[in-house]
Amino acid sequence: MLIVMDKDATEPQIRAVVAKINNLGFEAQPMPGGERVAIAILRNPGPVDPALFVDMAGVIQAIPVSRPYKLVGREMKREDTVIHFPGFDLGRKHFVVMAGPCAVESEAQALAIAEKVKAAGARVFRGGAYKPRTSPYSYQGLGKAGLEILKKVREETGLLVVTEAIDHDSLRLVAEYADIIQIGARNMQNFSLLRCAGRTRKPVLLKRGMYATLEEWLMAAEYIMSEGNAQVILCERGVRAIGDHARNLLDLATIPAVRRESHLPIIVDPSHAAGRRDLVPPLTRAAVAAGCDGLIIEVHHEPEKAMSDGAQSLYPDQFQALMEEIKSLKPGGW
Ligand code: PEP
Ligand code: MN
Repeated sequence: MLIVMDKDATEPQIRAVVAKINNLGFEAQPMPGGERVAIAILRNPGPVDPALFVDMAGVIQAIPVSRPYKLVGREMKREDTVIHFPGFDLGRKHFVVMAGPCAVESEAQALAIAEKVKAAGARVFRGGAYKPRTSPYSYQGLGKAGLEILKKVREETGLLVVTEAIDHDSLRLVAEYADIIQIGARNMQNFSLLRCAGRTRKPVLLKRGMYATLEEWLMAAEYIMSEGNAQVILCERGVRAIGDHARNLLDLATIPAVRRESHLPIIVDPSHAAGRRDLVPPLTRAAVAAGCDGLIIEVHHEPEKAMSDGAQSLYPDQFQALMEEIKSLKPGGW
């Protein structure tokens, strides 16, 4: 249930509603944004009687929430969430491109790629320091040394950085070093990791699991939000499909479907959907046309030497050309 307060509601009136919710044994979570305060009731085992609240001073409405995802859903918050970064926003028509290699391999590699993607218009540098690899014998990333390199990239280029946390130890460090914490497809239902990410105050980029339904994905976002972190960015990266013409099946329907169900921004990762660089530009165009709020794209200056995902990494000049195209698809800027 969502308790909507009058826009002139006083602090004591809001406190009284919060106290009543707590006294019932539930959790009260004030919702950010909007011109009036709304208070979500969480952890109620069954339906809550609206009559308990509608007569209280300052309350204008008690709205039952039908979806299992409460904080993530549009029922709780009608307007799109905007994530604020130093110098730019993401969401509600503010389009952001994140780009960089699959993995941070060396300072020289990261800086070389960062300069290129920045020149082409990316605002955020991506690069894994902790890599969740299918094989334990594949490159696992530089770990903390990789985070130090990402810090250097931010200092030298002014780009923000996004990088993946794969477990609790890496999450602690990623939360310290990165501007955005990435939770990968393989960890989308690692509920204790989601809770920990929810206890940080950094934006979280939550990839869709490769077998996850829309509801499971939104419930994963709910885990993060239920711990008090409202800054969640959803990322569609394709789901398992038949055939091997592409690595995954990019599910473009999630863009309008997420928009219908949730106020959270949704970006698209065409690289992990494609698995090969020639498919990245058409998938990118389709994602932009379907109305995503941003992109995360793998770029490598020497993809033939890349430690991971070289085959799907764009050359910097291809990325630049793609960025020019995107700008023409989004007249009025981004
Ligand atoms: C990645 O972004 O490098 C990655 C591993 O992606 P995903 O979790 O989508 O497979
Ligand atoms: Mn990758």
